Amino acid sequence: MRNGAAINLDANASYGVLPEVYEGVRESFGTLNPSSIHAGGQRARALIEAARDSVAALLGLSRSERVIFTSGATEANSTALFSPFLSEERGAPDRCYWLTSALEHHSVLEPCVRLSASGFSGRILSAERGFLTGEDLRSAVTADTRIVTAMFANNETGHLSPLSELVKATKERNENCRFHVDAVQLLGKSDFRLFDLLIDSASFSAHKIGGLPGVGALVIRTDLPYNPLLVGGAQEIRHRAGTENVAGIVSFGIAAEVVRKGLAERFRKLDADRRFLEERLRTGVEGISFNHPVEGGLINTVSVTVPGVRADDLVVALDLRGVYVSSGAACASGKPEPSHVLKALGLSDESARSTVRLSLRADHTAEELAQAVDAFTAAVSGGRCR
Ligand code: PLP
Repeated sequence: MRNGAAINLDANASYGVLPEVYEGVRESFGTLNPSSIHAGGQRARALIEAARDSVAALLGLSRSERVIFTSGATEANSTALFSPFLSEERGAPDRCYWLTSALEHHSVLEPCVRLSASGFSGRILSAERGFLTGEDLRSAVTADTRIVTAMFANNETGHLSPLSELVKATKERNENCRFHVDAVQLLGKSDFRLFDLLIDSASFSAHKIGGLPGVGALVIRTDLPYNPLLVGGAQEIRHRAGTENVAGIVSFGIAAEVVRKGLAERFRKLDADRRFLEERLRTGVEGISFNHPVEGGLINTVSVTVPGVRADDLVVALDLRGVYVSSGAACASGKPEPSHVLKALGLSDESARSTVRLSLRADHTAEELAQAVDAFTAAVSGGRCR
């Protein structure tokens, strides 16, 4: 499916706003502050509550979980991680207050680093297999550990965490330790019912399923003691202060509804399209290797290393051919740093700099995919000639 004229094979970064959302959010523009008791405010309130129900329905939530709308998964992750520590000044030395893995998104890693800087130390565990295991946690969780956080699926490589095993290991070692899941890459790619496990909270993001950027959700168990990160208002049941982003929340609700209704067909199509891409790239690009799990990974994600080609050059060459992919390298001070995830998986700097991710939408036509593969092989040949 096109974004403008281009084929968006970068859906894990942003899916692109759904046509249903363009239409649906218009209704929210005629509303006012959802906390106002007049009709203008109450229309906004009703739209927000309808969106909350849609997101809850997509996640199969029961009454024991609550959807708190946030400005995105970044805020949701920060909130989940800081919340257990907000009522205290500093931690005691040499304790392990939190645990996570080196594969996590920066919106998890950086709050963890900040916790350490404010005296609540913890550990970032290495996870060369592409995910943490129960054994990793069994030997790391202590009586002091307040929160363990793991992602549902890695956005760069598509590795899935064995969450059931991780939650079990955590709670066996310390039943009071919270378990948080960065579940951003779950929506629309799995019908796994996260909250059937004993997890305590999870983060989501609207723009990964066709809603607007700048809105997400933290889903928490209703009986969880909770300190809000943002204070200064009673919004979101006192869980997140600040006037709600009505249009963004409405967009999330609409996208959730579209995804929920088309889930079975979506899984079938994503799986078939990913296999098509894998097969064509395997046979069409000499020396290519895959970093994603070929079986049992995220159904829309392909991570490839193409020796002798710089990923950034490939991204630009594909962009010029009308195809969007991502290199995973973050540009710090003008110099692209190899992805921390690929490094954590054990790739050398050179291999990581030659790695690109292709992540599918659920509505590409067969022609678009064939065109994308042709563009890829042509761009690789161009990159190797230089
Ligand atoms: N976590 C993961 C795994 C992600 O892929 C992203 C977005 O790239 C985020 C968190 C941050 O989400 P948001 O853009 O809603 O802040």
